[in-house]
Amino acid sequence: MNSQDFRQFGHQLVDWIADYFERIDELPVLAPIEPGDLKAKLPGEPPQSGESMHEIIGDIDRLIVPALTHWSHPSFFAYFATSTSAPGIFGELLSAAFDNKAMLWRTSPASTELEEVVLDWLRQMMGLDAGYTGIIYDTASVSTMHAIAAAREGVEQRIREEGMSGRPDLPLLRVYASEQAHSSIEKAVITLGLGQRGLRKIPTDSQFRMDPKALAQAITEDKQNGYIPFCIVATVGTTSTSSIDPISEIVPIGEEHVMWLHVDAAYAGSAAVVPELQHILKGCERADSVVTNPHKWLFTPFDLSVLYCRHMDRLRAAFALTPEYLKTVEAAPVRNLMDTGIQLGRRFRALKLWMVLRHFGAEGLRARLTEHMRLASVFASWVDASEDFERLAPVPFSVVCFRARAAQRDDADRLNERILEAVNGTGEIFISHTRLGGRYALRLAIGNLHTTESHVARAWQLIQEHARLIRSST
Ligand code: PLP
Repeated sequence: MNSQDFRQFGHQLVDWIADYFERIDELPVLAPIEPGDLKAKLPGEPPQSGESMHEIIGDIDRLIVPALTHWSHPSFFAYFATSTSAPGIFGELLSAAFDNKAMLWRTSPASTELEEVVLDWLRQMMGLDAGYTGIIYDTASVSTMHAIAAAREGVEQRIREEGMSGRPDLPLLRVYASEQAHSSIEKAVITLGLGQRGLRKIPTDSQFRMDPKALAQAITEDKQNGYIPFCIVATVGTTSTSSIDPISEIVPIGEEHVMWLHVDAAYAGSAAVVPELQHILKGCERADSVVTNPHKWLFTPFDLSVLYCRHMDRLRAAFALTPEYLKTVEAAPVRNLMDTGIQLGRRFRALKLWMVLRHFGAEGLRARLTEHMRLASVFASWVDASEDFERLAPVPFSVVCFRARAAQRDDADRLNERILEAVNGTGEIFISHTRLGGRYALRLAIGNLHTTESHVARAWQLIQEHARLIRSST
């Protein structure tokens, strides 16, 4: 493509994106299609000769948009609602243009050094202490997997050299997380060859927080059985209810048993940018690693997860491996990012975060996060005031778990399943569900920059209307 065409189509696409955001409110949040519909419209054979950008862009409207779930829609309230942003989109665009592979400092000085600086800015914004160094991975699942691998390096069982299979000399290694912890912890444990029995799930209290007494007891019991407890994963902002594990009570348990403490703050870590909420990370000054996802609640387009780690040497001990063809003359303290992870080449993700932090500034970020939490508390107050609904968990951030009441417990599960189906079927909103104490719960999460009180009010109206309709039809 010549430079003139690049400009023409580039400008056209930027206009297209601006139009998309202007009209997104009118699009159905969930793609109104059935599985296989898009595949059926796409040719099964690859194109033999090149096609024009006119045609390709035309197919974005014709084929791709109708098959999109619009994560950027202001009435997307499912899972953790997220938000891309203009500076983040520009960062992605430039990153694709530079196409750097930040494996060595030499292969991408800008990416390597910007990552260090921008993650230190974010650390300061979150009030994390200066002992933490940040590193970017794609997702929290991968950040946590790296943290647990680093933790395992401390076990001193020569796992890097000899592996774990075929070793009768190796006792069961165990990681501990609450029963509310994200499934990524279990996946990390599986990936690292510890097996699902390598994760012990600790019960939670009535507010879905890890029970530290049960944790201490589990570790003691496992030690008595000859196991090696080596890592605790605590969560700040659990996936179902956004509950906060009592980090300060968990810290001394980890210290007593010389275990690595990893804090999964994938969603809620961003909230610490609001000074009044920095207490949520209290205790992290004595943890070993913390993960937070700017792609969740810090207006950074997917993907960008940050692992803050106090012991980069342990990460390097787990992952550094330099073949001859990757040796360079730059010596420590120069960072070679390939040393601290499974990937060799890495995308230039720091660029978009740098642009987001500069565009919003700490004040701008605080204002948006505070507004999201206000909207969630307004929604929670409507639920609380309604005789037909009940709230199922506290609302420390921007997630509300609730459900419609029914005379019978089993009826309530079915009623709420039907409400979920019905409101999502309108195309106007998208909410998700979870199960709490065995009970089916509806879940509304706020995190989009363009969500206003009227979007939240409309969601509440639809949920009430459909609950009434379903009740009256049964
Ligand atoms: N940890 C928590 C608490 C989460 O809620 C999630 C996802 O929602 C994850 C980890 C995994 O995030 P990612 O998609 O970045 O792997």
